[in-house]
Amino acid sequence: MAKVKLNVKVLRYNPDTDKKPYWKTYELETEDDVTILDVLNEIHWNIDGTLAYRRSCRSAICGSCAMKVNGRNVLACETGLHQFNSHKLKIEPLPGFKIIKDLVVDLDEFFAKLERILPYLILKKPTPDKEFLQSPQDFDKIQEAAMCILCGSCTSSCPSLWANEDYLGPAALLKAYRFIFDSRDDGTDERLDIINDRNGIWRCHTIFNCMEACPKDIKITEYLSRLKVKATENSI
Ligand code: SF4
Repeated sequence: MAKVKLNVKVLRYNPDTDKKPYWKTYELETEDDVTILDVLNEIHWNIDGTLAYRRSCRSAICGSCAMKVNGRNVLACETGLHQFNSHKLKIEPLPGFKIIKDLVVDLDEFFAKLERILPYLILKKPTPDKEFLQSPQDFDKIQEAAMCILCGSCTSSCPSLWANEDYLGPAALLKAYRFIFDSRDDGTDERLDIINDRNGIWRCHTIFNCMEACPKDIKITEYLSRLKVKATENSI
């Protein structure tokens, strides 16, 4: 552990008072083993209390602190300073979303799209009295997709969504995959109808940005490809 001097540029913006976003630079000294969230906390608590950003669990579970650091979408709480070969940081809000203030973006539309794909088990058969079991093989099909923490990094990095804001986007489609491929679910036809439209699965052009951006290393593009096959089989 050693002390380092940091030069941190943060994109600031308050829509109520600023005409456009601007860079504000902070110089600070910190330990070299801290995270990006620690750096932001240091700025907020000891240098500039007006800086706005989201944080909650500090354990890479809640997805609140997703942001862009030196050109990469990351979770601030799990990303150490050592991951950047520089003591200069450029911190921006997730691209593609409206800025509420500084690093806080408006996720209403993101969650509205998630709701559209019916993100819960749809059951048309009687439910068991106790646990609703599935085999380990069936669980394997959805386990990785179910690890999504809804941080928004993938959706924010998707060029198809930048070109068409009505596109459902990778996070909502991944959630559709998670339920369509769940052996207990009976809502496949309803969900396939929802994703098989002009703003649904076919807007995914297999660009792979989403996979690079995902802090949980979920193979999003692979799962969306399986959804395309399923949607095609269902149409036939
Ligand atoms: S798939 Fe990955 S990047 Fe996308 S919302 Fe889920 S955890 Fe975040």
